[in-house]
Amino acid sequence: MRSTLLRSNYFYRPRLERQLPLSELPFTSKAELVEDQAMNAPFGTNLTYPVSSYTRMHQTSGTAGKPLLWLDTPESWDWFLRCWEEVYRGAGVRTGDCLFVAFSFGPFIGFWGAFEAAQRMKVMALSGGGQSTAQRLRTILDRQATVLVCTPTYALRLADEAAEEGLDIRSSSIRITIHAGEPGASIPSVRKRIQDLWGARTYDHTGMTEVGAYGFECESQAGVHINEDEFIPEVIDPVTLQPMETGERGELVITNLGRLGMPLIRYRTGDLVVLSRQPCACGRKSVRMVGGILGRTDDMITVRGVNLFPSAVENIIRRHPEVVEFSIEVSRRRQMQELALKLELRDTVDGSTVVERIGRELLLDLHIRAVIECVPAGQLPRFELKSRRIRVVDPA
Ligand SMILES: [Zn+2]
Repeated sequence: MRSTLLRSNYFYRPRLERQLPLSELPFTSKAELVEDQAMNAPFGTNLTYPVSSYTRMHQTSGTAGKPLLWLDTPESWDWFLRCWEEVYRGAGVRTGDCLFVAFSFGPFIGFWGAFEAAQRMKVMALSGGGQSTAQRLRTILDRQATVLVCTPTYALRLADEAAEEGLDIRSSSIRITIHAGEPGASIPSVRKRIQDLWGARTYDHTGMTEVGAYGFECESQAGVHINEDEFIPEVIDPVTLQPMETGERGELVITNLGRLGMPLIRYRTGDLVVLSRQPCACGRKSVRMVGGILGRTDDMITVRGVNLFPSAVENIIRRHPEVVEFSIEVSRRRQMQELALKLELRDTVDGSTVVERIGRELLLDLHIRAVIECVPAGQLPRFELKSRRIRVVDPA
């Protein structure tokens, strides 16, 4: 791999010129990739082959600015799908299953990876593209789909819609749900709720457009395995960049091994994880991320001296099925961050008791106070892909 990159990949050539072990090679950051694509538009210099060798182009969601474009050759794409198949195998998907992929099928890679990996393992897959939520529900029920692939938020939204229309999804044929894009499926209360509503087993999966599908859950539901046949994980202190011990919380750094067309070496994911090498009940030897992705290096909230991730707040809110949608607002006053929650409730419930219960649990479990208010139905945005429920308001 090194010699191929040295020969023709202008992005990695200067980084690989000295023959160093992986642990001494420079990190790759998203900012560098974005800058490289801006300077060398449109695809940047991380191309191992001439552009004509590539047959697929996908792009990131561009939540934080201009989207990254990512190209794959047929060989790299085949590798991408092979990694996705591990996600399905981990969750127990098998021949005879019927997948429903509840996405819009735009240029985001996850839709296509999920769909085509099923084909590669000879499992039926149905596209949810170009359909309303109601139509998707109909397709799931009428076609007797057995596996639902979507974001955790969207699994809940489909369930809401089903309840409104009086459709029984709990006794539908769906037996497995697989989620990515948000940490939700690894948040205990979110997982429990999806499993209860769908009468299914719910699995988390982690991946990035530029890296590939590197993480999957097994049927033991004991954290997210990293596919170490295809990826090399490291955990570093995001400030000092020093390696951390297994079991310490730090930033996940990933090297992928089979995507030669547009590879990544020591890529800083920005995701905080805790790895475990304890044996898993499933028998796999690969390392696991305990609790999945815990948060982003840049979304830690500090409320009156208490550090926490938005997922911890979500875990509490999702214990209360009366809450249909919510948003978290963090504002800074006199150097201190304060937390305000907006809740949209089912119209049949008494808001004051829900507000009181959530307030009490935030205090007991996380030792924080929040200003909590209920807002009218339909006021908060609904999300189909990556949810953006947290807003930082800085008056200064
Ligand atoms: Zn396992």
